[in-house]
Amino acid sequence: MLFRFNALTCWEDRRVRERLSWYYEVMLNRKPAKFRVCRVIESSVQPSEVGFERLLEEHNRLQQRFADVLDGVRSGATSLEQMEEPKNSLLDVKIELAKRMLKKCSFCEWSCRVDRTVEGRRGACKLGDKSLVSTWFHHYGEEPPLVGSGGSGTIFFTGCTFRCVFCQNWDISQDWRNGVEIDARMLALIIKRLRADGALNINFVGGDPTMHLHTILESMRYVDVNVPMLWNSNMYLTEDAMNILKDVVDIWLPDFKYGNDRCALRLSKVPRYFEVASRNHRIAHANGDIIIRHLVLPNHIECCTKPVLEWIGENCPRALVNIMSQYHPDHLVPSNPDRYRDVARRLRRDELEKAYAIADSLRLVYEPVS
Ligand code: SF4
Repeated sequence: MLFRFNALTCWEDRRVRERLSWYYEVMLNRKPAKFRVCRVIESSVQPSEVGFERLLEEHNRLQQRFADVLDGVRSGATSLEQMEEPKNSLLDVKIELAKRMLKKCSFCEWSCRVDRTVEGRRGACKLGDKSLVSTWFHHYGEEPPLVGSGGSGTIFFTGCTFRCVFCQNWDISQDWRNGVEIDARMLALIIKRLRADGALNINFVGGDPTMHLHTILESMRYVDVNVPMLWNSNMYLTEDAMNILKDVVDIWLPDFKYGNDRCALRLSKVPRYFEVASRNHRIAHANGDIIIRHLVLPNHIECCTKPVLEWIGENCPRALVNIMSQYHPDHLVPSNPDRYRDVARRLRRDELEKAYAIADSLRLVYEPVS
């Protein structure tokens, strides 16, 4: 039987709770968030004092230990209350790795290799080493399991690794200056405030959060509340960045838009989209609870919606799927209707129904529009 999750049923429905079981446990403070588990895994090296290769080795070694401790925490055999936070932890190793990567940036698949710590050196995202936040608030428009009465504690970073011609957040995604500069300690304060005021989770988004990986990881050193960390992204990270990130994310909210590279290159100006996005969705699916968003584009049912949903059905069987219908022409599309004719209108009802029919045939658990 096909199940559709919606605002009224999602909290009570066993199938949604099962698929988001880790998220619920952390959100209800019955389990510690994964970043807190990273903080009790002791490193045998002082991260700032060893070379990159040695740091990577240590990271790989500690990830094995992390997996064992996390298993114990999941089963109830291990409690973090009995464990001290060491001077140098797996989280510190991750922070140091991210800082080193920033000097030859390969956070995303543009792999610009620029030193973002040097004034004026910018890669494709245009960001230096500072992170800017446009706004942060309790978001009630996210998927029902993420919202509840306290909302999703959403933090909008500026800048993006994509150049979507229809971007609805273009003012912050395409202008990285459109925010205020924050450091890791300020970000931790925002996170604590959101949680104290009832946020169910911390939702890192933008633009895209990828370019801010170093600041986000470092903020987790200073967060002294328990809260599920949510990664809301286009998933254009490198495999190395995913490997650092995957142990601190409790729930993934990735966006899987295109079913082929041609559409991605034309509409979001990114190469190798399908290979990168599918690889990263696989990693996310293997490392946490996941709700995959698919924005249905007009005239892109056969080339994008169908292959994306089929891929999810085959490769991410535990995922919940949000089939998003809210597309409207924005940013560059209204002024270039001939160039972007295919996406120069809203979605038709029959296209949305076709998307649902595909999801039904694949027995996906997805959220319909009422
Ligand atoms: S985050 Fe991506 S686009 Fe920005 S500098 Fe790094 S590799 Fe380049």
